[in-house]
Amino acid sequence: MPAESTASPTAGLSRRSMLAGAAAVAGSAAALTASGAEAAPLSAGTAAAPSAADRITEQPDRTGGHARATVFKNVRPYGAKHPVDLTVVDGVVSGDPAPRGAKVVDCKGRIALPTLVDAHIHPDKTAWGEPWVTRNPASSIAEYTEEDVKLYHALRTPLKKRAERLMGHAVAQGTRAMRAHVDVAPAYDLVGVEGVGSARRALRHALDVEIVAFPQHGVIRTPGTKELLEEAARTGAIDRVGGIDPIGFDEALEEHLDVVFGIADRHGVGVDIHLHERAATGMESLRAIIARTRALSLQGKVTVSHVFCVPGLPERELNRLAADLADAGISLTTVAPSSDLVLPIDRLREHGVEVGLGSDGVRDSWSPFGNADMLHRSHLLAWVRDARLDEELEAAFRAGADGGARLLGLPEADLKPGSPADFLLVRGECLPQVVVDLPRREMVVRGGRIVARDGELVGH
Ligand SMILES: [Zn+2]
Repeated sequence: MPAESTASPTAGLSRRSMLAGAAAVAGSAAALTASGAEAAPLSAGTAAAPSAADRITEQPDRTGGHARATVFKNVRPYGAKHPVDLTVVDGVVSGDPAPRGAKVVDCKGRIALPTLVDAHIHPDKTAWGEPWVTRNPASSIAEYTEEDVKLYHALRTPLKKRAERLMGHAVAQGTRAMRAHVDVAPAYDLVGVEGVGSARRALRHALDVEIVAFPQHGVIRTPGTKELLEEAARTGAIDRVGGIDPIGFDEALEEHLDVVFGIADRHGVGVDIHLHERAATGMESLRAIIARTRALSLQGKVTVSHVFCVPGLPERELNRLAADLADAGISLTTVAPSSDLVLPIDRLREHGVEVGLGSDGVRDSWSPFGNADMLHRSHLLAWVRDARLDEELEAAFRAGADGGARLLGLPEADLKPGSPADFLLVRGECLPQVVVDLPRREMVVRGGRIVARDGELVGH
């Protein structure tokens, strides 16, 4: 039985850090130009299609192309009460008045929120957009991987098209960047890396993508895998090399980490290891990962995903571990699977450990669930943490937006002057209500350009 925390999952939340987050929200709104118009009351109760007068409207650029400038009029950053005009020049939010003739988009009081970052997703495995898949029973990683291979051969649509379809859908729901874990094993050769690489190129105007070569079938237990991982790294096709349960699944802790960290060291790529192991086994692997990271000076380049051994730790042990992770520059990701297994994000962040939120698998052989919608994943994070207060709901959103941005080394898209103009527009009352009600993403903006409307990519 896994070690269980004696406290409830929410008992360790820091009220102070929550309030600090809320203060930052208020500051970002104040930095923007006040607009004359009052916000129209837009609540989820009036989520029906907007009337003609209430639709977002666009007027084209009249500068003759001298400045790539757009004014998004009447937006409410983070659900601020009073709308402002958000000026974007060359993809960045500007604190200066808009150039004459700039394009104007009247947002009619919509809430503007930063687009989010999916810190852990598997686009290669997905059956999203395919006919319904009936899944077979499976109870071990080895059995699930067999189901993966069967589904891979059964799906009619090529992997690169499936990946691009899912990644495009993620953009249209408000994702600005993702870290994609892609299976690398002799069963697939490097088809997944090539396919997700192709999807990344097709969507580069709208989405930043990191690719992790993920040895889902084990590094040591499946011969031929380490050579494929090495080749993927050597050719520059990947950003990170992955790993999986070095003790519990690969049964070769030192050899497994020798291969993974050896590739990272030789080719200058990062590391992101799936660690489902619990209790003492998970801690043994995690301690070995920390030691390797320090020994090879890979601080800032290593992530551990899931990390189910962490949530049940006693307070003192958690504090000691968090300090060591922060010192080694190791970040973590969670997919908020349950109240028992979600990471204690606030406590980890207090120690300086970055934590990203992710989708994990989306409608694949592992699960019929998932939708690559990071606003929905923030909602699930709030749900498993039993969020009730506004600041708890806002913190869940910030984990999905800012946590992943820090993890991927991207600037936070916080709608302040100088930040990338990456945001989504929704109808709503306030941020906590949006996290609960999940309104339709009416517009997604990337670097000041509109890349999706009403759940569909623009120009696709
Ligand atoms: Zn995963």
